[in-house]
Amino acid sequence: MSNLKRTLGLALVFACIALAPTRAEAKLKVAATIETLADLARQVGGERVDVTPLSHGYMDPHFIQAKPSLVLVLNRADVVVHVGLELEVGWLPPLVQQSRNPRIQQGQPGNIDASTAIDVQDVPRMPADQMRAMGDIHPLGNPHYWIPPKNARAVARLLARRFAELDPSGAPAYQAGLAAFEQKLAAKEREWAAVAAPLKGLKVVTYHKSWSYVAGWLGLVELGYIEPKPGTPPSADHTSRLIGAMRAEGAKLVIHEDFYPSSLAAFVAEKGGARVVSCPSDVGATPRIKTYFDLVDAVLAALRGS
Ligand SMILES: [Zn+2]
Repeated sequence: MSNLKRTLGLALVFACIALAPTRAEAKLKVAATIETLADLARQVGGERVDVTPLSHGYMDPHFIQAKPSLVLVLNRADVVVHVGLELEVGWLPPLVQQSRNPRIQQGQPGNIDASTAIDVQDVPRMPADQMRAMGDIHPLGNPHYWIPPKNARAVARLLARRFAELDPSGAPAYQAGLAAFEQKLAAKEREWAAVAAPLKGLKVVTYHKSWSYVAGWLGLVELGYIEPKPGTPPSADHTSRLIGAMRAEGAKLVIHEDFYPSSLAAFVAEKGGARVVSCPSDVGATPRIKTYFDLVDAVLAALRGS
């Protein structure tokens, strides 16, 4: 009996040795809804992850076309990382459902809502249903949180923890990836603080309510938004009131992403006596913005006008 046990035990050891290289080579397949989350996943996961973004940084992340190729990516994914707070509500849930992949369904370990790592701003006092009915596309709070370093760090830490749970033998690698990211981030934060210092107190108007976390980080003062409510097209009345407020308060910048109508942003800026700024909001917004660090560099350069 003991011989049999020993034989079985040895067989198990050999089986493990034989399987080990295969397991080590199998990368954790990560799908990320926006390119910034894809980059954070790569920074943390390094060689152990195979990351595919589901959208590009020059697209409006609220409205991504649900292409069949994305269903295929999700079908094969071990993990989907998303912004949450209903940013992707118009396109991600149907794709996840169609993927028929049990690993990434809502509530499963392979479904990572990055917003659970951060302090959510602009949480409405009204029930979400009521907010949606009024046309507000931020019914659970503001989902545009990924640019300030504090939030990027929190998301990176969440990814390292969740990746380690899904792939326990990779835990040391994810910890090392996170440590390297945090070290670089700390150095960049010192650099960014110096670059951003002159922006403090600057009065700004933004097209969509997508710069509030950045405003909080940099000390910008938000005077108003070209959209009267997130997702609602501006009316002539609202625009003229906004221009009046800009003149009265001394607005300096009108910030918009390239996927919003730039002619209206330029018109509001001109009438309100401010400079119009096209600002990238995601990795991949332009070909030169390849990482989270590039993104923040580009945002600060745009705001500084350099
Ligand atoms: Zn939004």
